[in-house]
Amino acid sequence: MARVVGDAGTDPPCRFCAAPLQHVFADLGMSPVANDNVPLDQANAMEPFFPLCALVCAECFLVQLAPFETEKPLFREDYAYFSSFSTSWLEHCRRYTEQMTERLGLGETSQVIELASNDGYLLQYFKDAGIPVLGIEPTENTANVALAKGIPTRVQFWGAGTARAVAEETQADLLLGNNVLAHVPDINDFVAGMKIALKDGGTITIEFPHLLKLIELNQWDTIYHEHYSYLSFATVGRVFEAHGLRLFDVQELPTHGGSLRIFGCHEDDSRGRSDAASELLERERAAGLEDVRTYLDYGARVVADKRQILTFLIDLKEAGNSIAGYGAAAKGNTLLNYCGVGRDVLDFVCDANPHKQGNVLPGTHIPILSPDAIAERRPDVVLILPWNIKDEVMQQLSYIREWGGRFAARSPELALFG
Ligand SMILES: [Zn+2]
Repeated sequence: MARVVGDAGTDPPCRFCAAPLQHVFADLGMSPVANDNVPLDQANAMEPFFPLCALVCAECFLVQLAPFETEKPLFREDYAYFSSFSTSWLEHCRRYTEQMTERLGLGETSQVIELASNDGYLLQYFKDAGIPVLGIEPTENTANVALAKGIPTRVQFWGAGTARAVAEETQADLLLGNNVLAHVPDINDFVAGMKIALKDGGTITIEFPHLLKLIELNQWDTIYHEHYSYLSFATVGRVFEAHGLRLFDVQELPTHGGSLRIFGCHEDDSRGRSDAASELLERERAAGLEDVRTYLDYGARVVADKRQILTFLIDLKEAGNSIAGYGAAAKGNTLLNYCGVGRDVLDFVCDANPHKQGNVLPGTHIPILSPDAIAERRPDVVLILPWNIKDEVMQQLSYIREWGGRFAARSPELALFG
């Protein structure tokens, strides 16, 4: 589904290399801001929708959102995401801190700095081990939770400016950022800041969902407005090199449907490129990630997926099933809005986060209830929208089998489970 956007001279510039963006990767139509759940008393108000369209740069292959205008911040002020709500994520982070402490020999004279440190969900483990930490977190109410735990935190966005202020006091032996690189509109300023704040011989680790998995497993529902970039190992390597940094190792992780944990250092560091890094670069190339045609072909698969999802849900409804959704998360909103699935299909969506309950989903206005509603209303099918935590949810809600309830999730096609 090759398509070229804009007229000559009006193509937006690539967020990394500034080349004109002319190629569409996935066009998901008009969509409300994904995490912008609507309070019930505002459900009759007008609601903003913005184009949700991912483009690819034919020079550096950075997949990125087309620019869209907003008249207000992306988040409602009372919205906050607390990382500590997910137990499997906390376990992932605890294991990471143990691995890194051993691998880098971190101790009481080291400095760990985390970018987008949220409520201190990860730094708490380093702190408990006696390793000095510093969090950088732009959202004030989550930063306050970290401060209350005794985790030093600056309430700031990350970039070269913040990095210079931090570097006057300390530099990082370990500089880390989980699921933040894809969320920053100015990727150059973000990585330039990492160069400034990294000690000589220090290590950067960054985790982000892998673009190769997004393509191979049709994870287009991970495209939403807060997620500006969709990253391959090769493209992130190019961004690092433009800022005097270098990638020397990588680990592939199961989180978020397939993530990378990349390891970076200063360009003159003595550590050479690992076999894993060389192998992944070759695998991305073999999968076509260095060829713009691979990206142009993706759009047709997105459209075919929409047809499969709608056929599947219509068949369930025609057979008389009631369906509830699980997880009022961003990827669910992308899917529901793109496919036009509303309250005529899903009776409600439940979510364990009490801050979301009592609101309605943006766009579709499906009510968000506590997970207790599943036991009370006994839906025939529970559609798990965040497919990356499917196993965890199926375990938590295993009692739906008592009334013959079944689960549905994308894997990558939408299918029934149990
Ligand atoms: Zn580019």
